[in-house]
Amino acid sequence: MRPVRRNRSRTSGGAEKVTQWLLDASRKLMFLSGLAVLVLAGYLVYGFVGGGLGQWESLTHEARVRIIGNIQGAISYLNISLAVLLLTSSILYWAEEGLGYALVLLAAGFYYGVPLGVELGAPGLVTNWLTGRNTAALAVYNEARIAGLVLAIPGIILVIIDLVNRVRYGSSRKKTQRSAMQFGAEVEEEEPIRPPLIGALAKCYQLPFCREFVRSHCPVFHLQKRCWRVRVGCMCEEQVIRTAMVGMAHEAARARSMVPDDNEPVDMAKRYNLDDPLGAAKPESPFKPLVATPPPKVVGAEVKIPQNNAFSPAQKRERCRNCIIYNEHQRLKYQLVSPLVVLAVPALAVSQFSAMKSAMEVALRSADTVMSRLSLEQTARGIDIGQLASSNEIANIVLLGSLILMVLTWALHFTEHCIFQWKI
Ligand code: SF4
Repeated sequence: MRPVRRNRSRTSGGAEKVTQWLLDASRKLMFLSGLAVLVLAGYLVYGFVGGGLGQWESLTHEARVRIIGNIQGAISYLNISLAVLLLTSSILYWAEEGLGYALVLLAAGFYYGVPLGVELGAPGLVTNWLTGRNTAALAVYNEARIAGLVLAIPGIILVIIDLVNRVRYGSSRKKTQRSAMQFGAEVEEEEPIRPPLIGALAKCYQLPFCREFVRSHCPVFHLQKRCWRVRVGCMCEEQVIRTAMVGMAHEAARARSMVPDDNEPVDMAKRYNLDDPLGAAKPESPFKPLVATPPPKVVGAEVKIPQNNAFSPAQKRERCRNCIIYNEHQRLKYQLVSPLVVLAVPALAVSQFSAMKSAMEVALRSADTVMSRLSLEQTARGIDIGQLASSNEIANIVLLGSLILMVLTWALHFTEHCIFQWKI
């Protein structure tokens, strides 16, 4: 067996080294690709500011051909660098919750924001490029929208990973949450009795924190209640613990009465009457007489939930919020509700997809109107973001999908907040 173990540790050490090497390589690549993106984007902007893109009409045919070649080359390298940057940063920071959302927002910003910014900053510029056949400037302009779509893809993937993690780990038991509990943080888990089909509907004695020694004397159990409903439980209410302790003491006393006391030497002369070796008289029993008082009744109509008037209902509610049992109930509730939310939001979105698409177009056209009113030009002119939105069906679907994912995330955040913070 030893050589196998040695091999395993060697294998795991080798895998760690490979992983570390990959991470280091990703970090370097991310840095280099980030630098390349900045330089190439700067080069494209320079094409407008100091290059020939702004004076397209005055350029010779040869100069135009050369500039178009340069711009296309720069755009190709920019897309490659951007893809490497996104891939490496996604590998390195995939667990960062905010990265996916940031990429989706950035994607929407590039896709809609750049054309909007150009129209606001230099109205009619794009139309001039179209009429003047300034293909180089138009290629750069379109690159902003392509970059938006490139950003949206890893953004959507990371948002989906975050959603899956939320559902998976949101309903798992976290040790940190447990240690924060005021009641029952140290309690060991036990195999629950009769676990229910739906965990969220479990009664407190069907949860793993119900201890057998307390349960057998617990009025909440004998009346088949949930401790958080009656605001009396084994973790918080002294009377329940005391009843359990008394019951245990009686059981221990009864058990002791059935076995010889090891500390007390048995008088063999008394036990086996040496004056009566044939056993005419009965030997003294080695067992002690049963002296324990009967155990408290816990079954039947006499079982009562103890009422503690020292605490107000609000204080009792607060005890539940800080109890391991109630929080386990909440965790199971989240386990049930979160997949329903994950299914309900996309189902609703799919059923209302065309309505949502039209609403988006109406919103963008309203933005057109507002922008044209705010325009500082002599004649108010529509910027036509609405036309921009409806011009590319696939891009609209991708961005609408991102929007749905973000709404889904907020819905899950809200569900988490209701269940784990407000403890509804
Ligand atoms: S109050 Fe505690 S001991 Fe009693 S049934 Fe509920 S979990 Fe079990």
